[in-house]
Amino acid sequence: MTAKALGFLDQELEEIRKQGFSWNPRTLQGEQGGRAVFDGHEVVNLSSNNYLGLTNHPKLRQAAKQAVDAYGAGAGAVRPIAGTMTLHRELEERIARFKGTEAALVFQSGFAANQGTIQSLVGAEDVIFSEELNHGSIIDGCRLSGAKIVKWPHRDTEALRKICAEQRRQFRRALLVSDAIFSMDGDIAHLKEMAEVAEEFDCIAMVDDAHASGVLGRNGRGSVDHFQLEGRIDVQMGTLSKALGTMGGYIAGSRNLIDFLIQKARPFLLSTAHPPAVVAAAAAAIDLLQTSEGEALIKRLWDNTRYFKDGLKNLGFDTGASESPITPVIVGSSQNAKELSQKLFVEGVFAQEIVFPMVARDQARVRTIVSAMHTKEDLGFALNAFKKVGRELKLI
Ligand code: PMP
Repeated sequence: MTAKALGFLDQELEEIRKQGFSWNPRTLQGEQGGRAVFDGHEVVNLSSNNYLGLTNHPKLRQAAKQAVDAYGAGAGAVRPIAGTMTLHRELEERIARFKGTEAALVFQSGFAANQGTIQSLVGAEDVIFSEELNHGSIIDGCRLSGAKIVKWPHRDTEALRKICAEQRRQFRRALLVSDAIFSMDGDIAHLKEMAEVAEEFDCIAMVDDAHASGVLGRNGRGSVDHFQLEGRIDVQMGTLSKALGTMGGYIAGSRNLIDFLIQKARPFLLSTAHPPAVVAAAAAAIDLLQTSEGEALIKRLWDNTRYFKDGLKNLGFDTGASESPITPVIVGSSQNAKELSQKLFVEGVFAQEIVFPMVARDQARVRTIVSAMHTKEDLGFALNAFKKVGRELKLI
């Protein structure tokens, strides 16, 4: 019975593979380093979001180990019932202090934070103005909310203003939401203009700082700090999973907002709390960002970013409008992107291809992400490989 009912799987898998859209995840053997071993090959790793190398930092490891000894391996309950431990509360207080907001709430992932928050804030009588390149977790949150979804063109705040002027009044509440750093392009939202539109049209302003947490702003406080928009973005979402080296997402904002999400946000209410090791390591990461060592790591991340981006541009690659540690090498067809990524891997560089449906069909690319862990030698090595393979494939 089951085999018959699932008969469509073979066909659909075949179709996905034929179209060249299938995932074949590589296996990391060891730590997520600037150099790392994937599928038995040592490579310069340009595919991780471990921007500051904190996944491997001794202070985070130590905090995780101590938390396991003191509190056990799991939380054993959802947060609203019995799963809120002292550690969770301490982490949330730390995040709120760090972000300069009244309060913060931690979710099991950035994905859950977006999904649970958007779904809680708006409903069928409302509208969401959503940036067209927003992350899938925002898109899913928007869909689950039942609100009308109106996309606005990438980073075009004038178009956004027009759309708001035409549509805002027909709805009860409005949510305006954007990534801060776009995950496939590495460019940065025009957050100040977005805040102005939100104020003009009485919209809730929400920003996704997944790639900006630990990267933008003083000590990595994020995009609101970077653009000096304190008090003007109502909902700041961030991750603990990328630059902060662990796992999880958070919402930082007013006390009311957090109290409301505690009542409403379904992943918070219905899914088991983070294990102690993760919470303690995330708290150690927030502490570390606020030390001179944290500052030095962020500086190194940005030095590496400039060096590598300039290197790719000088070789003649199209790196789009990237302004962040994420630099796409846009090559057009998915075939080009796959070949480039594959040949780079053979040369000792892991840079993942990104193809439709994650980006437009003619915008396939290899995405590079530098980190503070890379040495100039690592990046020089990677640039040489890009030069060799890029010429071989006649991309430069
Ligand atoms: N938002 C953006 C922009 C992201 O890139 C990601 C991660 N891919 C998320 C949210 C989800 O974060 P997490 O990995 O912590 O679930």
